[in-house]
Amino acid sequence: MLTDTHTHLYLEEFAPDNKAAVQRAIDSGVQRMIFPNVDLCTIKPMEKLAAEFPDNICMAMGFHPTEVNADYKQALAVTQSKLIDNPGHYVAVGEIGMDLYWDKTFRTEQMQALEAQIDLALQLHLPVIIHCREALDETLEVMQGKSGLRGVMHSFGGTPADVERIRRDHDFYFGINGVVTFKNCKVRESLPVIGTDRLLLETDSPYLAPVPHRGKRNESAYIIHTAFYVADCLDMSPEKLADITTANASALFFSGRQ
Ligand SMILES: [Zn+2]
Repeated sequence: MLTDTHTHLYLEEFAPDNKAAVQRAIDSGVQRMIFPNVDLCTIKPMEKLAAEFPDNICMAMGFHPTEVNADYKQALAVTQSKLIDNPGHYVAVGEIGMDLYWDKTFRTEQMQALEAQIDLALQLHLPVIIHCREALDETLEVMQGKSGLRGVMHSFGGTPADVERIRRDHDFYFGINGVVTFKNCKVRESLPVIGTDRLLLETDSPYLAPVPHRGKRNESAYIIHTAFYVADCLDMSPEKLADITTANASALFFSGRQ
């Protein structure tokens, strides 16, 4: 049994067969998936698809850093009230974070939106799903002093030194996706430093398909390629890795539930 801790199968890239994509994942052994929200337009399709598979899909609610602009506050208020008004409905606050890869214009606003969402996660005792691209300094600056914060650095592509920096003050998990299978990708060097107890597998579908599907639309069923690759790097069986990462996902997202 595998758990895809980060997948956007509800997006229009999969329309009109979003349900078929979920079913293909379940048929491949991916029995649990977490859908993180992106912005206000994605809430409805996400909720709709998740409701079709209540035993397999859990959701996270948040406002994505690339959607933050000068008037982010109104949109953020919507996702924040979703979390406050529906206790138990979401397993995490996400995805949230910092992205300065494409555009640094709203750096300050991104930091403010991240901090507000982290504070709400702490208040609601929920973990966070952090998207961090070209912005580790800023992300850690916002996270500083937020004691008790739990979560995952999703789509982690950092070095062993980055792992240690994040760990210095925070007990975080690291989401590894198809990028690890790309030639010359260095994140495999971080795997032993992360350790199996803090490792999660994800796809970030429809993006970042693992080899041999690289460059094509990604889907949760393809997580199997990442699992095989990571198991090989760590010299363990894919079955064992699947068990360990599923247990890790349960510990982070589902402890205290069912
Ligand atoms: Zn995502």
